[in-house]
Amino acid sequence: MTRTVRAAIATAAAAATLALAAPAQAHPFDPKPGADGVGDPLFPTLGNGGYDVRHYDLSFDFTPVTYDFTGTMKISAKATQDLSSFNLDIDSLAIDAVKVDGKDAAFAVSLGKSGQELTVTPAGGLHDNRPFEVAVTYHGNGKTKPIGVPGWRYMSDGGFASAAQSSRADTFAPVNDTTMDKASWTFHLTAPDGWTPGANGTKTGTRPAGEGKTTSDFRLDVPMASELLGISVEKQTLLTGHGPHGVKLRHYVPDDQVATYRPIVEQTGGQIAWLEKTLGVRFPFDTYGMQIVRDGYSDALENQTLSLFGPGWFKNACTSTTYTNVMVHEMTHQWFGDSVTPTTWQSAWLNEGPAVYYAALWADQQGTASMEDKMRTAYGKLDAVRKTDGPPGLPTELGGFNIYDGAAVVLYALNQQVGQDDYDAIMKSWLTKHRHANADSQDFIDNAIRVTHDPSLRPFLEDWLLSKDNPPMPGHPDWS
Ligand SMILES: [Zn+2]
Repeated sequence: MTRTVRAAIATAAAAATLALAAPAQAHPFDPKPGADGVGDPLFPTLGNGGYDVRHYDLSFDFTPVTYDFTGTMKISAKATQDLSSFNLDIDSLAIDAVKVDGKDAAFAVSLGKSGQELTVTPAGGLHDNRPFEVAVTYHGNGKTKPIGVPGWRYMSDGGFASAAQSSRADTFAPVNDTTMDKASWTFHLTAPDGWTPGANGTKTGTRPAGEGKTTSDFRLDVPMASELLGISVEKQTLLTGHGPHGVKLRHYVPDDQVATYRPIVEQTGGQIAWLEKTLGVRFPFDTYGMQIVRDGYSDALENQTLSLFGPGWFKNACTSTTYTNVMVHEMTHQWFGDSVTPTTWQSAWLNEGPAVYYAALWADQQGTASMEDKMRTAYGKLDAVRKTDGPPGLPTELGGFNIYDGAAVVLYALNQQVGQDDYDAIMKSWLTKHRHANADSQDFIDNAIRVTHDPSLRPFLEDWLLSKDNPPMPGHPDWS
């Protein structure tokens, strides 16, 4: 749910009270355009206002090597105001037709600040609080240079994988590309026989699509922000297994490297068990796995239920400690970022801080690297970074030290301040209270106070999150 949605609900509630006082008048239909952004401080035009997506149903037919694709995105949404028109985020997609509730709708494409805006004008407008269905048919080529940042990753076999964070899902399909509008998803990915599609969620079947092609179906019943879109078509092999208490494990690895990657992906079950024990909260989804690509991508990304990894992490030069740390980092995100999703990108420290923190704790408990040494080093560096890139709670952009190791230092400071038991209780409560929803820095502070009954944690955490200077580290007066 979006902030504009909340405002709309508040307005609607006020209107309802008035209506009770004077029941003669229903509120007149007064359609206006939905906003072209939801006001994310770091990405003001990301996402759109006036509606709330409930479900995305993506059909995507990809031709390897040429990278041509066709798509149909069906969106089930609910209006949160009377709408004369509404926007979807796209980037370099050629729109063929748009239908709303089965009828042709007028549409226009314009330049946005991070891609393009698809403005849809349904005949007669849409009524507040009513569900509606949108179907956008489109085509394109994955190698077209996008207007914003590219989300496509190209593999040397002619396949692709999506790396959509933070604003690139719109290079694959029309979406409401804000963290605030989470929705369930189904995928129908079509590729020539011999090519294997992968997607978030559980594979529910395959069926012939004609012309030597097969369609693979997937469904994700829990809500997901579009930034966590994880689709691929590659020459890859699906490996399956079982994690704790029936969590289904499924991994995609290059089909000529199964022997290399099987012993690596088989470590995920044990890591899930370790994180569940450490966090005191069960894995938030019924499926998990790794997508390890052959090349074309060198980072790692927490796509929901299917983390994406470049091959570099697993090369000979990397020790098992290095690669298991990054495995634990992306797995931690399934709780922090994927299940509990920041309301805006300004609160990205709530994704990266815990991911760095618990990967460091993992390394410490494996006996490979001291967590205290890592935090002391990061504390020393953070003071200068606060001044150049912003403090952890007010970053000037994503991807910096402030929201990664710097944010882990904030969590470490909280731990030192309240003690291990209260720290664990705060994190457990955070994950439980905001499961499969959105929350931000103020929600984190509110939760910490609620758990500990200690109101001094508000100035304490605000100082750590927002100050231009490092506060002193509790319990470590010698740190500077
Ligand atoms: Zn991360």
